[in-house]
Amino acid sequence: MRMGGRIKKHDFGSLSVELGAGWIAGVGGKESNPVWELAVQSGLRTCFSDYSNARYNIYDRSGKIFPSGVAADTYKKAVESAIQKLRTDQDSLLTADVSDVPELSTIPETPIELAIDFILHDFEMAEVEPISTYVDFGEREFLVADERGYEHLLYKMAEEFLFTSDSKILDNRLKLNTVVRELQHSRDGVKVRTEDGCVFEANYVILSVSIGVLQSHLISFNPHLPRWKMEAIQKCDVMVYTKIFLKFPYKFWPCGPGKEFFIYAHERRGYYTFWQHMENAYPGSNILVVTLTNGESKRVESQSDQETLREAMEVLRDMFGPDIPEATDILVPRWWNNRFQRGSYSNYPIYANPQMVQNIKAPVGRIYFTGEHTSERFSGYVHGGYLAGIETGEGLLEEIKSREKERILEPLIAVTLSQKCDEIHRQVLFHGNSKREAIL
Ligand SMILES: Cc1cc2nc3c(=O)[nH]c(=O)nc-3n(C[C@H](O)[C@H](O)[C@H](O)COP(=O)(O)OP(=O)(O)OC[C@H]3O[C@@H](n4cnc5c(N)ncnc54)[C@H](O)[C@@H]3O)c2cc1C
Repeated sequence: MRMGGRIKKHDFGSLSVELGAGWIAGVGGKESNPVWELAVQSGLRTCFSDYSNARYNIYDRSGKIFPSGVAADTYKKAVESAIQKLRTDQDSLLTADVSDVPELSTIPETPIELAIDFILHDFEMAEVEPISTYVDFGEREFLVADERGYEHLLYKMAEEFLFTSDSKILDNRLKLNTVVRELQHSRDGVKVRTEDGCVFEANYVILSVSIGVLQSHLISFNPHLPRWKMEAIQKCDVMVYTKIFLKFPYKFWPCGPGKEFFIYAHERRGYYTFWQHMENAYPGSNILVVTLTNGESKRVESQSDQETLREAMEVLRDMFGPDIPEATDILVPRWWNNRFQRGSYSNYPIYANPQMVQNIKAPVGRIYFTGEHTSERFSGYVHGGYLAGIETGEGLLEEIKSREKERILEPLIAVTLSQKCDEIHRQVLFHGNSKREAIL
């Protein structure tokens, strides 16, 4: 095991690529994104990403690019339909049960409609509803393109409170390769049992595992978590998002301004739809990335990488012709089948009310919960995880301080009470038995 969780770099094709979080999303707005600040402070190399051109690079199965007018019209129609659906959903939620939420007003059917629907709902969304990240921090996104990886930010932070040397963590309070399997909790504290049979005792525990792990049976709670907590956890959707990397001997795709992202329109929604070349981030790298989500992610996770390579090559030949070179390497991350993740990030359903996230983050006795899924405004993002961690830490400190105050005050209260009792006793003795009954 390593530090970093869903921030994870991997050597691929003589480069360091990000299997998990790749972008710092929400930059250039009225408030500063704290993760962007960390990136600037530590000189992380980043590269501006402009997705907006992707809709003008939509290929059909015969390799033709859809005329920009057709793409723009389909896009406009899809955005209008999504906004209309959102409004209808909100209206019906005020009056009806969740099961009454109506279906999409215009159902995407053609390959280009399906491709745009996929881009809109599985990537952009900012165009459809106000997303706190973009509202607060700005609409720009930067791809991390640094050999030290996105995780470099985590090591910089760790240096502030763990013993480190030469960018390595030497602090034995950090237990790597230690899998938590049970939390036994009571009014007095928490016992943490690990897979290798160790037991750690603590006054409090902060649990930062993903929502997917909370939904799984990896960690058991003794006593069980209360029903309101379990219901909220189970209701939260988990998004699976898979970036597949392909290395080629040379590049055969168009490069230059507005060409970084391109789309493949297929009759199956989400079938190798969203592509990115890495030339802007790493010129000469000859790497393509295709992103799959949810059902398609789970499907490729369960098949061999060779099969996935065959499918991806078929799609590329549709777009760029039969003479393109075969990829020399493929990398398929498996976030869904990773028992320490069980998905990529939380995705609160449209009908989620603020109580749901409150219940997911609320402590249960001495167990505190944190992680991106506990962030009210920024769930799903690195900055959501970062800010949630600070908030949970502060909440716990408050709790410890108020308990500490109670503990110091306890003897004082005891003294005051015993003085009061003496006084009462004296009064009772003085006034006689009839009075005594009244006082008790
Ligand atoms: C493919 C992908 C792409 C993404 N893209 C972006 C992006 O571009 N921009 C962005 O802002 N965000 C992105 N995200 C989301 C972002 O990575 C997460 O929101 C963030 O990293 C979550 O941090 P966290 O601390 O909440 O959880 P994690 O990083 O998952 O930390 C939880 C830790 O708990 C450990 N753990 C789990 N179970 C146990 C156990 N039983 N015992 C001990 N340890 C355990 C895990 O190994 C992990 O280290 C992406 C995520 C993925 C997977």
